[in-house]
Amino acid sequence: MTQYKNSLEFAKEQDAKDPLAKFRDEFYFPQNNQNQNQIYLCGNSLGLQPKRTQEYINQELKDWAKYGVEGHTLAKNPWVPYHEILTNKMAKIVGAKPKEVVMMNTLTVNLHLMMVSFYRPTDRKFKILIEKDAFPSDRYAVESQLRFHGISPEEGLLLWEPPEGEELCRFEDLQKIIEEQGNRIALMMIGSTNYYTGQSFPLKKIVQLGHQHEINVGFDLAHGAGNIQPNLHKTGADFAVWCSYKYLNSGPGSVGGCFVHERHENDLKLPRFAGWWGHDKESRFNMRQDFDPIPGAEGWQLSNPPILSLAAINASLSLFEEAGFDKLIQKSKNLTGYLEFLIKDLQDNRIQIITPSNFDERGCQLSLKLTGVSKSLFDNLIKDGVITDWREPNVIRIAPAPLYNNYEDVFKMVQSLKKHLG
Ligand SMILES: *Cc1c(COP(=O)(O)O)cnc(C)c1O
Repeated sequence: MTQYKNSLEFAKEQDAKDPLAKFRDEFYFPQNNQNQNQIYLCGNSLGLQPKRTQEYINQELKDWAKYGVEGHTLAKNPWVPYHEILTNKMAKIVGAKPKEVVMMNTLTVNLHLMMVSFYRPTDRKFKILIEKDAFPSDRYAVESQLRFHGISPEEGLLLWEPPEGEELCRFEDLQKIIEEQGNRIALMMIGSTNYYTGQSFPLKKIVQLGHQHEINVGFDLAHGAGNIQPNLHKTGADFAVWCSYKYLNSGPGSVGGCFVHERHENDLKLPRFAGWWGHDKESRFNMRQDFDPIPGAEGWQLSNPPILSLAAINASLSLFEEAGFDKLIQKSKNLTGYLEFLIKDLQDNRIQIITPSNFDERGCQLSLKLTGVSKSLFDNLIKDGVITDWREPNVIRIAPAPLYNNYEDVFKMVQSLKKHLG
């Protein structure tokens, strides 16, 4: 591990040595008011645009102009099987087998589709357990599924909470809930990496715990996909969902991802909401047959997907493939370690890093809880061209993305923070 130093010179030296540094030039950076690149540390909210994305989308626009409907089969990348181009690359990033992964819909839609199949409440076993401070959309989705089954959130929703006065959830507390109420719980749905604290959970241990009590387990990888290696297949999770516009840089509102473990690939007893794109590929266009799902995650598809959005995902995943995901994770650890070092070096007791300091319990994001500092600090950072994000009541989230951020970004961010803390 590198011995970090608090100097611009050190940051520049690290960037000069970084084998992944060239990928920074593959992205457009928004400009600050002096026409320089912003210090963009907000890839946890919306990743930057890869320069090659236009070319990938243009290819499809050209083929649509040239072929019309025949583009479904004649386009350079035929549209009917377009999503299959993404599968292998995506499967590597989430640690899954290709047949376990499909890009389709958007995150919350996929979450509902997965709960239709994997939340099967009975009179005795009907509760859903989520982590406290789950992302609002996840909570709304879970609560509405409970209500859909005639169960009120008051009786059906259980929260895994941090101990009083602490920020992070402890596995022991989850164990305790499961020991006490496991026979009542039908589903656990946990964010692999919490959007607020940046805490990554021990996914495999959570799945083992759940499965010992016949609880289905699913993960929301919105802040995990492209950020940590979740090793989905090995965790044994029943399902997972994610979006592609955060760390996966595929553009605002782009299509999301879904994982279904291979043990469910041919389970025709699982109820599901179906559509023609999930039907057997050979007979899909015969049109008059009973639903015959494609084995694996693809069988959960509903509609023919938006090709322009898949093209953006294709552009982005090609960059991940060229860089190598393992190398990106290594850089990410070093880069976020540097951010942590610089913030600690401020020795300012108004700042508390609430994200775990252990590399295995976090991705690239650090969340800073500020005490006795107003939100104007955050506004001043923006005026300096430093883009982070603010979460009420008093947290700044900073996420150096290893594909396009560098040590100099991190150094300058902390300089700006120091200046405005006064
Ligand atoms: C970003 C995010 C979402 C967003 O859901 P969409 O359906 O893509 O709008 C949902 N859940 C979590 C945990 C998120 O971080």
